[in-house]
Amino acid sequence: MCTYEDLVDATLHHGLIPYVVPQLRTITLGGAVTGLGIEATSFRNGFPHESVLEMDVITGAGEVVTTRPGDELFDTFPNSYGSLGYATRLRISLERVPDRVRLRHVRFDDPGLLAKTIATIVDSGEYDGRRVDGIDGVAFAPGEYYLTVATWADEAEDAAAWREHPSDYTGQQIFYRSIQQREHDLLTMYDYLWRWDTDWFWCSGAFGVQHPVVRRLWPRRWRRSDVYHKLVGLDRRYGIADRLDRRAGRPERERVIQDVENPVDRLAEFLDWFDAEIGMRPVWMCPVRAKRNWPIYPFDPDITYVNLGFWGTVHVGPEAADAPRNRAIEAEVQSLAGHKSLYSEAFYDRETFDQLYDGAHLARVKAQFDPDDRLTSLYDKAVQRR
Ligand SMILES: Cc1cc2nc3c(=O)[nH]c(=O)nc-3n(C[C@H](O)[C@H](O)[C@H](O)COP(=O)(O)OP(=O)(O)OC[C@H]3O[C@@H](n4cnc5c(N)ncnc54)[C@H](O)[C@@H]3O)c2cc1C
Repeated sequence: MCTYEDLVDATLHHGLIPYVVPQLRTITLGGAVTGLGIEATSFRNGFPHESVLEMDVITGAGEVVTTRPGDELFDTFPNSYGSLGYATRLRISLERVPDRVRLRHVRFDDPGLLAKTIATIVDSGEYDGRRVDGIDGVAFAPGEYYLTVATWADEAEDAAAWREHPSDYTGQQIFYRSIQQREHDLLTMYDYLWRWDTDWFWCSGAFGVQHPVVRRLWPRRWRRSDVYHKLVGLDRRYGIADRLDRRAGRPERERVIQDVENPVDRLAEFLDWFDAEIGMRPVWMCPVRAKRNWPIYPFDPDITYVNLGFWGTVHVGPEAADAPRNRAIEAEVQSLAGHKSLYSEAFYDRETFDQLYDGAHLARVKAQFDPDDRLTSLYDKAVQRR
């Protein structure tokens, strides 16, 4: 239950951070290891579970098992979402970091060139002759893509970074807008880690918090993704947006909240398809390279994938309840040899799901560690919403 916010508070004090720090403060270490975390360091550090050295899992059988990489329970744990057991103690490796991060926001008009640049940076670890420590990007509109290339600014290598004033996006300025407005930036490591949390990427816009007047009045302690997340929960419970839509005569909305990963050489194809068929913007992009294959979320470690995150709604009309856009995304990702994260909603039939997430392997490991089937299965959790 240790959140990354608490974890970073403890480790950064010693000049250390987890190898991959998910963007949202309240994601827990256990949650990111059993789900899938991806962040700007994932192109070189993989997923949060790839820097776990050891963990204790309380299994469905009620036993506490200490498990390590190479054990069947450990290797099947990522993407199991608590269906095999609960991690109660984790030992992880940390990375030494300086306190400043230099950013370069690089614009691309052509998605093909964007994909090629990502592939080159991942392979070389450099951009324009300078080391790259973190990389993510935003597709703002068709023909308007940015990569944000981050370099840890070590005092010995870059003394100037310690004399300049770092930017602050926890006040009136908004991080995602800065990407379009400036080519270079400097942040503290702390602010870099939580740059996306303050405005929940761009989703705070739905609550008016990006309007300068509202922003000034909105308490600083509420500029956090978990606060917006709670507001979304209230909206869903009381159907506020749906009622407003009905009153205004707008078509019903379908929620499209997904993260998918496609091979980098299919990135341009996916972005073009997404623009034409779904039409939601912005889209977050983040390259990831797995260290090895994991049985129930198989990534080829020789291939660079790009995570694409899109979180919002699309007005689709009366068929919204059948989730046509979500289903189309699942089919498209499958045809591009990509993957879909299961943290949100999924609509696969049982056979397809078992094929994509190695249901046979998962069932075998579950039978071993949860012989009485006490824990809800992954299919029931992810697709049947149990
Ligand atoms: C709104 C939203 C935004 C997200 N944004 C990001 C993002 O920006 N970056 C990113 O990397 N990921 C993101 N994710 C994915 C997220 O990393 C995974 O969903 C992760 O599993 C969430 O962890 P949590 O600690 O919040 O767990 P919860 O949401 O509480 O639980 C998620 C699932 O994990 C299981 N679980 C939780 N803790 C444990 C444990 N200790 N052991 C075993 N199972 C456990 C729960 O049973 C549940 O099925 C997002 C998810 C959501 C819902």
